[in-house]
Amino acid sequence: MSFAASILTLYPEMFPGPLGVSLAGRALERGDWSCETLQIRDFATDKHRTVDDTPAGGGAGMVLKCDVLAAAVDHAVAKSRDNGTGEAVPILAMTPRGKPITQERIREIASGPGVAILCGRFEGFDERLFEARPEIEQVSMGDIVLSGGEPAALAILDACIRLLPGVMGAPSSGAEESFENGLLEYPQYTRPQQWEGRTIPEVLRSGDHAKIAAWRKARSEDHTRLRRPDLWERYSDARDRPASGARRKD
Ligand code: SAH
Repeated sequence: MSFAASILTLYPEMFPGPLGVSLAGRALERGDWSCETLQIRDFATDKHRTVDDTPAGGGAGMVLKCDVLAAAVDHAVAKSRDNGTGEAVPILAMTPRGKPITQERIREIASGPGVAILCGRFEGFDERLFEARPEIEQVSMGDIVLSGGEPAALAILDACIRLLPGVMGAPSSGAEESFENGLLEYPQYTRPQQWEGRTIPEVLRSGDHAKIAAWRKARSEDHTRLRRPDLWERYSDARDRPASGARRKD
């Protein structure tokens, strides 16, 4: 069964965009995933097809209207039910105010029937959308502010698509990657053996797989501790907890 992505956007021409080439592009051609766009403006009800209005309380910019957004989301949900098994797909709204996306959540989404992604613009969404449609998951790409949700949606889709069965060359290449075991990946090297006076670490040429695995694990741990204290804390907590301890869900 194909993974069905449906994107709610004011700029449908941005899709599939970069996901039309390379790995994701070939998977799209094969039908491993599909990409449907819904123009949010088509759900406006006035003759000017208005999607935004000025912020209540004043301030810069424009806010996307909750009535128009809800009509678009409801349509996407109904359509995903008709297309597929009747199973509801997760609905993600792109917003810097959301929960940062994780590889764990990407894996869950990729193993399901598809995803609907709502892309914001301007100052974002009228908050009442999220009160009235609590099933919408507010998701952030990280502590940066984009001009629109589309690049975030493309990144999330890319992360899902590469996990779909048959999309990535070697099935094992997903498993050892950054975040999969709570750590950043170890550093990688390739030929030439000597470059600008720098040598590939000797252990990697030793052919001793146990030694290589131990070296990689130690480097993974070093890098994570130095670069990502947040991940390191979670990792060391989990490592130090007795095996019988229940897994914490945050
Ligand atoms: N006024 C908002 C930012 C709006 S940016 C605020 O300060 O929170 C315009 C749109 O870009 C948002 O509605 C959202 O869809 C998208 N966007 C910006 N940064 C993002 C991020 N870090 N993650 C996901 N989407 C983002």
